[in-house]
Amino acid sequence: MRAIRAAIVHCRGEPEAGNEASAIEYFDDGVLVLEGGRVVGLGSAEEWLASPAAGVTVEDRRGYLLVPGFVDTHIHYPQTDIIAGHGKQLMDWLEHYVWPIEARFNDQQTGAATAEFFLDELLRNGTTTACVFGTVHVASIDTFMAAALRRGMRMIAGKVLMDRNCPETLREDAGDGIGKSAELIERWHGKGRLAYALTPRFAPTSSPQLLQAISELLRSQNDLYLQTHLAECQDETRLVAELFPESSSYLGVYDQFGLVIERSVFAHGIHIDHDDRRRMAQAGSAISFCPTSNMFLGSGLFNYQAAKRAGIRVGLGSDVGAGTRFGISETAAEAYKVCRLRGDDLHPFEAFYLATLGGARALRLDDSIGNFENGKEADFVLLDYNATPLLARRTAVATDLEERLFALMMLADDRAVAETYVMGERVHERS
Ligand SMILES: [Zn+2]
Repeated sequence: MRAIRAAIVHCRGEPEAGNEASAIEYFDDGVLVLEGGRVVGLGSAEEWLASPAAGVTVEDRRGYLLVPGFVDTHIHYPQTDIIAGHGKQLMDWLEHYVWPIEARFNDQQTGAATAEFFLDELLRNGTTTACVFGTVHVASIDTFMAAALRRGMRMIAGKVLMDRNCPETLREDAGDGIGKSAELIERWHGKGRLAYALTPRFAPTSSPQLLQAISELLRSQNDLYLQTHLAECQDETRLVAELFPESSSYLGVYDQFGLVIERSVFAHGIHIDHDDRRRMAQAGSAISFCPTSNMFLGSGLFNYQAAKRAGIRVGLGSDVGAGTRFGISETAAEAYKVCRLRGDDLHPFEAFYLATLGGARALRLDDSIGNFENGKEADFVLLDYNATPLLARRTAVATDLEERLFALMMLADDRAVAETYVMGERVHERS
């Protein structure tokens, strides 16, 4: 057994509107006790150290804030090298930046080298779990899963499926794509901490036959995920209405093929209506709120408060490469600004929830990660309030946890991530 001594904060549940602090548990001087990669205790240092269990070594990290590892509910690892591509909206962005870079993942070497960099970057930003798109190539997922397995990280990923409206080099017949997905499921799903997500890019690149075949494969095991994009921008939403004229809405396309289920993660969900929200809440599906991407491409402002009121599980997504930051803390800061632009608020504790336990719930992983309940996997991060002169100065005049957390969210970047731990082992230390 080991114990880490630091200021510690986590969410016990979802913050209630008007009483956000009730969901938060905070120890100004706390200890997190670990054994075999799991949490076995949490409490105030004073109490714990008064009667230390025999054989517990205490690692002193006072001065840092210890939080659960961040959860990124939507990201594309092959798009790492097109981050910050200037001047396009979604449909042109795909043509101009995405198709050319994704075509390179035909080869093992590109996938392996990019996956290593990508996972290092996640850890450098305190992200320990993500829901990840590959490309259409089997090698993109073999290399990614192998790299994640070596690091012991909890990851969900899948190979992209596209059988129309894309370049010939990236297109495959529905049967082909499904056969390869089935092989990847066999190889990776449930191995270590990995899970597989069936990954149609979005409705415009999917034929009805492909969506039908995905639905059948999805139902072949009860713990597979589905990840895709939904109603990100208006041009795309109009195109879907033309391609699927019989569907009542964009979500209706996925729904008519049985793809709106508990383990579905829909990125964006900006241009949807209340019926769609009700349907997603009823099905238990999740939306990944990707504010840096939505602002960068000019896609629109996600209505977080409406999604929350409808009872939809929402997590934060960086959506790199259209997203402009790997950090989930910075993503939360942009989520706050999107809410302000809509005339809404996002409470600092609610934002912290979205980055941790809310993300875990969106991905149906809250039995394993998201907070420090006993028995959970010990993925956590040590944050440094003194990472930059400005952050240190602002923190020094903050009067309570709410204010300190908000300043951290608005001002921090990867410099504030001092250390990242996966299953209790340190996997990143700021140089
Ligand atoms: Zn995306």
